[in-house]
Amino acid sequence: MTSFRTARDMALTLRPDESVYCFRRSVLEKDAKSFMESFPGKTAYAVKTNGEPFVLKTLADLGIDCFDVASPAEFAAARAVAPSAELLYMHPVKAQSDIRLALETYGIRTMAVDHEDEVAKIVRIVRALDMDPETITLFVRIATKGHAAYELSKKFGAAPGHAVELVQRIHGIGFKVGLCFHVGSQIEDPDTYERALASAAWVRSRAGVELAGLDVGGGFPAVYGVDRRTMGNGMPALTDIMARLRQDIVEWGFDDLPLVAEPGRVISAHCLSLVVRVLLKKGRRLYINDGIWASLSDSWTGKITLPARHVPDPARRRRTGDPKNIVPFRVCGATCDSVDILSRPFWLPETVDTGDWIEIGHIGAYSMALRTRFNGFYPDKVVDVEVPFDEDGAAESLVSLETMGS
Ligand SMILES: *Cc1c(COP(=O)(O)O)cnc(C)c1O
Repeated sequence: MTSFRTARDMALTLRPDESVYCFRRSVLEKDAKSFMESFPGKTAYAVKTNGEPFVLKTLADLGIDCFDVASPAEFAAARAVAPSAELLYMHPVKAQSDIRLALETYGIRTMAVDHEDEVAKIVRIVRALDMDPETITLFVRIATKGHAAYELSKKFGAAPGHAVELVQRIHGIGFKVGLCFHVGSQIEDPDTYERALASAAWVRSRAGVELAGLDVGGGFPAVYGVDRRTMGNGMPALTDIMARLRQDIVEWGFDDLPLVAEPGRVISAHCLSLVVRVLLKKGRRLYINDGIWASLSDSWTGKITLPARHVPDPARRRRTGDPKNIVPFRVCGATCDSVDILSRPFWLPETVDTGDWIEIGHIGAYSMALRTRFNGFYPDKVVDVEVPFDEDGAAESLVSLETMGS
C-alpha cells in the first residue's frame, strides 16, 4: 500500500477522481486493544463489519484469535489470516450445507440458534458425521428490546419462554448450551445491555440447566460526528458503557460464566476515512464520486452523522464566499439512482466547489463491506495514512454532518 502522512497529502499528491480509502493501522490497533482490555471475556471480531484482509490481518497480528462469522466466505477470510483462530458461527439461520462445511472442514464448534428446526438441522449433520454433541456448544439467541440505529430483534431471537424450551431441548440432546443476544448495531440507549441481561437471567433461572457461556453480541456504539446544534450525540463513551456492562454482568449473576462479545463497528469504524471528490456543485448541492451504493450506505440507512473535512483544490484560484461560513450541503451520490442522496447533509465551508476533495471520517465499518458495482462505480483503492483523522491539523476545516430538518 502507498503511504502518506495525511489524507490531505494523498489528495493533493494523487489528485484522485475515484474515492480513496485511507487506512490508519495504529487506530485499528488502538481501538481493538481498548475493547479487549475493557471487556471481561473473549473478543470475537464480527467479520461482516469490515472483512478486508488488511483489517483481519492487523487484528490477528494484535492477538485477536476469535472471529464471529456468518458464511463460508467469512470462514475462509478469517482462517486466511489466522489459521488457528476460533470461529463462532453466530448466524441463527444457516444453510444445511454450510453447517456441514463448518463442522467438517472448518472445525467450528460454536453456533447460534433461535428455533428448534435449526437445532434439528444441526443434529442431522452431527449424526451423519458421527460426532459427539458434547463437543459442540449451541448458543440460544434471545430476542431483546432496545434502541439502536439498527434493530434486530424483529428478525432474530427467541422470546424468553421459547428460549427456555430451546435451552432444555439442546441440553437434553447432549450439546453444551449457552445464551446469546445481539442488541442491534450502534445502540442509542445505554440501558440496552441491562435489559438483555435481565432477559438472559430470567431464561437461565427458568431453564435450570448448566450453561457453558454468555455471549453479549455487538452493538457497541462508535463515536461519529458531533451534532453542531447539540454538540454531542448523547451517548456515553465506550469506557462508561463497558463499566456499566461489567457491573450489570455481576448484578445479573453472569460473572461465573465464560463471556464473549462480538464487537464490529466499535473496533473498525475509526480506522478508515474516505476521500471523495466534488464532481459538481449546484448551489447548495454537491455531486460526489461515491454514495449509498458504494461506501456510504451505512450512514444513509443508519442516519449516522459523519465528520467531514474540506480539502480545497489549490488549482482553483477563484472562490466565492467566506471560508469561515459553514453551511449544510445536500450530497448526491455518483449513481443515476434517484434514492442515491445522503440522508444527512455535509456541513462545509461555503467556498467548497467543483474539483475539491472531502475527507469523510470514521467510515471503517460497513463501508467497503456494503459496496456494490451498481452503475459501474466500485471504489477499491486503499492507501496507508499515518495521522489519525481526529488528530489531523486544520481543525477549522473539520466540520460535521448533522440532521437536516427531518
Ligand atoms: C453484525 C453483528 C455483530 C456486530 O455488530 P456491531 O454493531 O458492528 O458491533 C455482532 N454479532 C452479530 C450476531 C451480528 O450480526
